[in-house]
Formats: sequence, structure tokens, C-alpha cells
Amino acid sequence: MKPKSKTRWNSKIPTWLFLGFLQAASGLDVLENRLIGDVSKPVNPAELNPNFHYIDTSFENASPLWYELDERGRIQIHLNYDLERESPNRANGHWHFKLQATPGSKHTIVLNNLNNVWNGKPGVPVSNRTICKVSEDGRVWRTIETEIEHLDQLVFEVEMRQSHLYIAHVEPYRISDLEILKNQITDHPLVDIREIGSTVQGRSLEIIRVGKDTAPYRVFLRGRAHPWEPGGNWVIQGLIQSLLEESSENQTYLNLYAVYILPMANKDGVAAGKTRFNMMGKDLNRNWDKPADPALCPENHYLEKWFQSMIDQGTPIHMAMDLHNDQSGRIHVSRPNIDLDAYLDRMKRYEALMRKHTWFTEGSTGGSFRNPGTIGEGLLERYGITAFVQELNANWIEGLQQHTSGKNWHLLGSQMRRVFFEFFLAESNIPKP
Ligand SMILES: [Zn+2]
Repeated sequence: MKPKSKTRWNSKIPTWLFLGFLQAASGLDVLENRLIGDVSKPVNPAELNPNFHYIDTSFENASPLWYELDERGRIQIHLNYDLERESPNRANGHWHFKLQATPGSKHTIVLNNLNNVWNGKPGVPVSNRTICKVSEDGRVWRTIETEIEHLDQLVFEVEMRQSHLYIAHVEPYRISDLEILKNQITDHPLVDIREIGSTVQGRSLEIIRVGKDTAPYRVFLRGRAHPWEPGGNWVIQGLIQSLLEESSENQTYLNLYAVYILPMANKDGVAAGKTRFNMMGKDLNRNWDKPADPALCPENHYLEKWFQSMIDQGTPIHMAMDLHNDQSGRIHVSRPNIDLDAYLDRMKRYEALMRKHTWFTEGSTGGSFRNPGTIGEGLLERYGITAFVQELNANWIEGLQQHTSGKNWHLLGSQMRRVFFEFFLAESNIPKP
């Protein structure tokens, strides 16, 4: 017979008796309220952290969440999971909220609910390399570092320079930022902005063309299939703005190729501050092996129609990339069961040019890597387009030895002008300069 352990003896004491005993012994009336979510004896937050006022999520792209203060006065943020339809998958990874507190005060913030399920498997979207951005005005952001606590909580400290502070995972790019960009460029003779359809909630989906519709080569970029991943929007903005500067090199580039861009595929998710899925719980970077359901996934349905219309007009897309953020930043070369020789050869050239002309150093997926149903596979198999997912490390840029920022992603976009030029030049009959 096993000796009775102390633990076993303790477990026989009813919890209410144990808590009652502790409460009586310590004289602390708030004890029970320290249990997360217990509202039987509400506590005024001012007792726990008198400098804390509120978490504001009333603005564009703010993340759905609820919060409470713990017994140490730390702000416990509970992010709402973003759920996929008919799937175990769930995602958190976007945070964007405004802390209101006394100027000069310091606060510890704990983010909860980071137990994601990705491709049916558990996955934590943060690590000790995860950064956090803070800003007083939502425009100029600085980076702070974070720490992991208990595997699934992210902890960081902030200091209030004013009475409010915007806090986000990566530097936000909102629908209003895209509208500013579109207004800047819409009258330019080398720009065409065309609505191709609308999202679940009726927001317009536009294709922005920069360059001539008669250019011999066409490259396509999609941004923001996943709302938490704004890096692609900064790259797209850098590419567009730099291509429209007057210079002889831009003239040379745009005599060879035009860029076609769907800048923000999941606009509804961006507006709602979601992490991954559209408003019907569909992942816009999955199920590309078959036509998209127009009711559940109009964002992909209209894009497929557009790809087909380009083929029907005799102006097919030659290369397509889907811009994402993750924790590693590689080019995802997915390998479906088809003859891949020509595709892999082009991908090798693309990667070499990215390493040569941009700050990109992260490399590509090798071996037999596959991620079925992604847009890269779907466009390659169904439309014969050289297509792939281009990830951007959300936290760190190895080639610059800097944290990520809108400015650094903007730079990548401007550097990619030359990558596209040399990529297509090698395949053209135009004499090499
Ligand atoms: Zn993504």
C-alpha cells in the first residue's frame, strides 16, 4: 500500500473550505476575486492599478478582446480566437488596441489565448523573438521586446508618454492607409484601378495596375489574405510609389513589365481586427485546388474570375506571389504532383535575384515541401502560372540586422522593381543592357 502523500490529503479538503480558511486567516476580502473571471465580488480596477484607465478598441483594425487586471495590477488581455469554418483551426496573432492610462505610468501587459491550431496541429504564434510596436499617434511606431510566460502568454512592459498609447504586434496598415495610397496615384497615366468584385461584407476588391497594359510581361501580387499580416501592404506601397517616380530606370522597367496588385484581399478581416479568416470563416490561402464558393469566399471567387479573364484576353499573368508574414520569412515553394522542372528553375532564379538586389536573405522551402491548397499550388496547377507564397519575417530582418518596420518593408518593395526586371529580361528577346 502506498503511503498517503500530503498532496492527496490536501485534495480531500473541499475548495470552498480551503478558500474560506485562507480568507479568514488573511483577512483579505478580495481573495476570491483574484480567480480569473470571478465576478461574485467585483473589484474596482483602481484598487489594483490606480494609473490604469481603459483599453480602447473602438477604432479601425482594433482587435476583439476582453481584459481584466490581475492581483499584481497587470493588464491581462484575452484575445478572441479567429475560427475557421468546419475545421479545428483557430488563430490569434493580431493585437492592436489603445491603452489609456496616466502619463508617466508604467504597465505590464499579458496577452492570453495564443494556443493556435494551424493545419490541424497545435501552433504557438509567438516566441521570445516576437516584437511589439507602440505609438502615441498610430503613425510613428517604436519597437519593444516581449517575453513568453507559461508557453502561451506574451508579456511586455510599456511606459506612458501621454494619456494613451497604441499597441500592436507589427506596424499596422489599415484600409484608410490603402485609400490614401489610391488617392495619391489614381490620376497617374501609368495607373489603372479597377474593381473586380466585393468581399463578404460588400467592400470593393480592386486590382491596381502600374505600367502599360501592353507590356510584354505581367507580375501579380496579392496582399493581406490574412489580416494580421500587414507586411505585404508595406511592400506593395513601396513597389507602387517607387515605380511611379520619374526615372530612366523606371521607364526601362515598365517597358518590360507591368504589375497587377490585389492589395488587400481580406478587407473585412482587416476592418474587424481579425487574425486569419474571412467573415465566413474561410482561409483565403486554402482550397485553391478547386473553384472558390462565391457565397463563402467571394474574395477568391472574383480573383479567380480575374485570372481567367486575363487568360481569355491573351494577357496571362507570368508570375504571381502572395505576400504573408510569419516567424521565418522564407519563399514557400509548394510542390504539387505535377512536372515541376520549369517551375523550380524559375523559382531558383527568382530567389537568386531577391538575394542579389534586395535585403532578402531568408531562403526558400526545399526538399519535398508542400502546403496543399495554397494559392501558389492552385495557380500553378489550374492556370499554369509560376506562383508562390512569399513570407516576410514579422519580427526581424536578418539582411538589415533590424527589427521589422513599415519603412523596411517599403524598401523591399522598391528593391523588387529590379528583381522583376532581371527576371523577365532573362526570358525575353530584348538585348541585355
Ligand atoms: Zn499568412
